[in-house]
Amino acid sequence: SKQQIGVVGMAVMGKNLALNIESRGYSVSIFNRSASRTEEAIAENPGKNLVPTYTIEEFVDSLETPRKIMLMVQAGAATDATIQSLLPHLDKGDILIDGGNTFFQDTIRRNEELANSGINFIGTGVSGGEEGALKGPAIMPGGQKEAYELVAPIFEQIAAKAEDGEPCVTYIGPNGAGHYVKMAHNGIEYGDMQLIAESYDLMSRLLGLSVDEMADIFKEWNEGELDSYLIEITADILTHKDDETGKPLVDVILDAAGNKGTGKWTSQSALDLGVPLPLITESVFARYISAMKEERVEASTKIKGLDVQPFEGDKKELVEKIREALYFSKIMSYAQGFAQLRIASEEYGWELNYGEIAKIFRAGCIIRAKFLQKITDAYANNPELKNLLLDEYFNEVTQKYQKSVREVVALAVQAGVPVPTFSSAIAYYDSYRSADLPANIIQAQRDYFGAHTYKRKDKEGIFHHDWYTK
Ligand code: NDP
Repeated sequence: SKQQIGVVGMAVMGKNLALNIESRGYSVSIFNRSASRTEEAIAENPGKNLVPTYTIEEFVDSLETPRKIMLMVQAGAATDATIQSLLPHLDKGDILIDGGNTFFQDTIRRNEELANSGINFIGTGVSGGEEGALKGPAIMPGGQKEAYELVAPIFEQIAAKAEDGEPCVTYIGPNGAGHYVKMAHNGIEYGDMQLIAESYDLMSRLLGLSVDEMADIFKEWNEGELDSYLIEITADILTHKDDETGKPLVDVILDAAGNKGTGKWTSQSALDLGVPLPLITESVFARYISAMKEERVEASTKIKGLDVQPFEGDKKELVEKIREALYFSKIMSYAQGFAQLRIASEEYGWELNYGEIAKIFRAGCIIRAKFLQKITDAYANNPELKNLLLDEYFNEVTQKYQKSVREVVALAVQAGVPVPTFSSAIAYYDSYRSADLPANIIQAQRDYFGAHTYKRKDKEGIFHHDWYTK
């Protein structure tokens, strides 16, 4: 008999996803370019309804039609190679699903190319890491809607469930929409992580709190507005000790951040679309400057900040202000990220549903957080909302917390503690709420040196001034 679905790629993600699908009562064919991983998956999981296959022909032939094939291989050239090896064996109406971290433009291209051969192609974001893949990820599928309907029952079963029981998966939109939303999710993840890192830095360098004290503070924060996976794991991370030295593990981990490029893609797309995305972009740059460890160590011996007195105010009060600043800045980041989704949706014709997107982020994925419900509510109140800051709840809470961000950023700047995302958050807030910005000077300069022309505030038309004659 034939299997109901196939998974290609038996590295950690593919294997766990196959096990997740199998655990919901499906029979799953598995295939991997090198046989050893397939053998390993079978050996590790005796008694499961996983069917190993060792050639592409055998794999394709083992599946019910229309075939449902999920790819979990390295993004990029490996995904193209895998698709090319499958293609000659597929029939019209088969459904290929790419669950890798694929660049959305690749998905747009593959969707179009495969549609010409009558093959449905779904590009889907899968978030939650290896644990999520096994127990329930957030899933962001894009592609032919009719094809998605055929796999929707499986996806709804394997997806994470939110508190109200709803599965964290929804049809996102045509072609690259799902991978775009996954990319934006990862960008937002970069911002959230950097904001937490800056909060930690302020508590450590400005307030001199110990790692244990900070663990308790993050734990407490996780009970309130900031309730989220990343705050929760940060609290836990801070409790771990190094086996060798007995020191807090964070104190022996090298402060040079890596990245796999999804944050960079998010910022590049923002630049392409002309959307301001400063906070996430600062968080990408913060990783880059962190990676320049040697250069920073050398610079630290040559470039001095000011000598400042240690903080003498009420530490508890300042910790609460940092918490408010963090929540404020997180809201700025999501306001920017969701504004980018709106412009991308218009540009690519995706008709994204922002409230539904926030909803599927509520569980399973790395940015899962209680406050996402507020975003869902905001778009339920007004599906055309231009910016989250215009929503009543977000408007109120950011107005209330702005005082804390201003104070925290001022203190940090004086003390020489870098807060690129906190300061970017307040700058965005002040720019967005400014009826007048100094771009009149920019326009005058552009007209001055390049005759680029300008518009006037008081009348219609395009103007050029003869700057060279007084
Ligand atoms: P990897 O990204 O490490 O990819 C390894 C898999 O790709 C192996 O099955 C490997 O086969 C296959 N592969 C590599 N090159 C080729 C090729 N040229 N032709 C055919 N197959 C090839 O595995 P992960 O499990 O970490 O991730 C799988 C996908 O899921 C990736 O796109 C990743 O970005 C994405 N993802 C990963 C997450 C994570 O937390 N790790 C989270 C969310 C998404 P072989 O064994 O033969 O080398």
